[in-house]
Amino acid sequence: MHPTLIVGSVAFDTLHIGGECHSKVLGGAATYASIAATHFGPVQLVGVVGHDFPDTATRLLRDRGADLAGLELADGETFHWEGRYSEDLSSRETLRTDLNVFADFRPKIPASFKATPYVMLGNIDPVLQLQVLDQIAQPKLVLADTMNLWIDIRRPELVELCKRVDLLVLNDEEARQLTGELNLVRAAKALHALGPRTVIIKKGEHGALLLQGEDVFSLPGLPLSSVADPTGAGDTFAGALMGFIAPANDLSAPSLRKAVVYGSVLASFCVEGISTSRIASVTPSEVHARFEHFKRLTSF
Ligand code: AMP
Repeated sequence: MHPTLIVGSVAFDTLHIGGECHSKVLGGAATYASIAATHFGPVQLVGVVGHDFPDTATRLLRDRGADLAGLELADGETFHWEGRYSEDLSSRETLRTDLNVFADFRPKIPASFKATPYVMLGNIDPVLQLQVLDQIAQPKLVLADTMNLWIDIRRPELVELCKRVDLLVLNDEEARQLTGELNLVRAAKALHALGPRTVIIKKGEHGALLLQGEDVFSLPGLPLSSVADPTGAGDTFAGALMGFIAPANDLSAPSLRKAVVYGSVLASFCVEGISTSRIASVTPSEVHARFEHFKRLTSF
């Protein structure tokens, strides 16, 4: 079974949500993505943590089937991000980003990971994402995530990266910002022209679009009655998507559509709990039931 190699941030998050503060809970794009991907198959995690990173968190990842040979323990404190959500949870502001050990992070891919064909480049500096690709022998599918910060300050490097990416995942705002196109179908065309043959545009609670040239798949968001914490939903989506594709080893259009549904299933669980609590506890039968729920939601 092919594992999924996941590179990105492993973090502590301090979250201000609905008048409550959740201090230094487990976070980071690679953490969310890895936990999500382990629902489908093995994961190889590449990231960095400091001496304050708890054994309980490493144990959680390892017990779920993540190989932590690429999780560097550096001298210093773990990356810390603090954010506050608006009352309706539709937006958030960053209050604080302490890069700590992440500031000097240079991803080193362990020899045992270098032949892995399925690679997810979580949302980190495109310069580092390129360094990761330089260390992988012959990837079969490279997924990259990004954010507005890198579109602002690392555009040339991001454009360079796009030439080597098969599947680009970004949200609607980022797609517009990167291409200058307001219309998402035109934005996807412009993104294809940069390199990726598959583009996935996330629309938050409104679902996701999968675009491969003229072929478009549109999945709505699952209407949820309670949302506890939207943090990491995008990373969970991408991690589950790659986590589903890697063991299936199937890049056909139907397989990619199914992967988008599984990405959305795990993302819908992610927002139901604070931090990684829900994605770490959800059972295979709950995942299956929600996949069926998506089928009913979209059948007519
Ligand atoms: P999302 O809600 O999917 O955008 O992801 C949120 C996660 O990204 C949090 O757990 C943060 O720890 C992490 N994060 C926030 N800012 C950054 C950054 N500049 N670089 C890498 N990871 C970040």
